[in-house]
Amino acid sequence: MYYGFDVGGTKIEFGAFDENLQRVATERVPTPTDDYALLVDTIAGLIAKYDAQFGVEGKIGLGLPGMEDADDGTVLTVNVPAAKGKPLRADLEAKVGRSVKIENDANCFALSEAWDEDLKEAPSVMGLILGTGFGGGLVYDGKIFSGRNHVAGEMGHMRLPIDAWFHLGSEKAPLLSCGCGNKGCLDNYLSGRGFELIYEHYFAEKKAAIDIITAYQQGEAKAMEHVERFMELLAICFANLFTANDPHVVVLGGGLSNFDLIYQEMPKRIPKHLLSVAKCPTIIKAKHGDSGGVRGAAFLNIK
Ligand SMILES: [Zn+2]
Repeated sequence: MYYGFDVGGTKIEFGAFDENLQRVATERVPTPTDDYALLVDTIAGLIAKYDAQFGVEGKIGLGLPGMEDADDGTVLTVNVPAAKGKPLRADLEAKVGRSVKIENDANCFALSEAWDEDLKEAPSVMGLILGTGFGGGLVYDGKIFSGRNHVAGEMGHMRLPIDAWFHLGSEKAPLLSCGCGNKGCLDNYLSGRGFELIYEHYFAEKKAAIDIITAYQQGEAKAMEHVERFMELLAICFANLFTANDPHVVVLGGGLSNFDLIYQEMPKRIPKHLLSVAKCPTIIKAKHGDSGGVRGAAFLNIK
């Protein structure tokens, strides 16, 4: 039995998956906001409850918005204050008497999709989230690759490629600041937020992403110009990511991934930005949506 926990800022979702990777239990509880002992007890309590229910010792994985410090194992997170700076994995392992795996929630999203029935034979899967922010995860042969510092796949904090800068008009381009302290991070351009910020930059008008897309579908001129600019920007940035990683399949999640035009435009636009020997990978929409976090956390223990 595989247990997954998606530990978010407001709720913890638990899921149990059987050996066929079918979900057999789900439970959601509020995340203790600033009480670390209660956070550990809440997770350990769910483990004990479902161990008793299924008569097994489930294998445990946790996904959270953040990562472990690679050297001392303390949790680096902003959105789950109770866990910040705490050795969550070590404390949970001591409490439940077995190993616990912890991963970034974007990596869990990628792993969840990589274990979809249709993709599980794919040698590599790149998950990209076009949500409030832009991020992703890399799965090779069914396992997350998270690197020396658990930052592999943090593609939102790569800076804009130079051809993207030219595409946006060089000195007329928006130079957007990122929460990480740098300027020009992809997070601020390719996310749903970025989609809106770029529109605002060129048209001096704030508009929600969904309204821009509706206007585009109605053929409104500014929205058409914006979507053209954005699709080419996306293609340039994706092509740069693909040149470094050459994934077999790319799965898109997050709110903006529901803009179906992306799946028509990327295969047409990306090849000219790749090396001439490279072909555009298959780019598809995520299938597991909101359950990606908990599925991916559970599947940390498959391999
Ligand atoms: Zn950044």
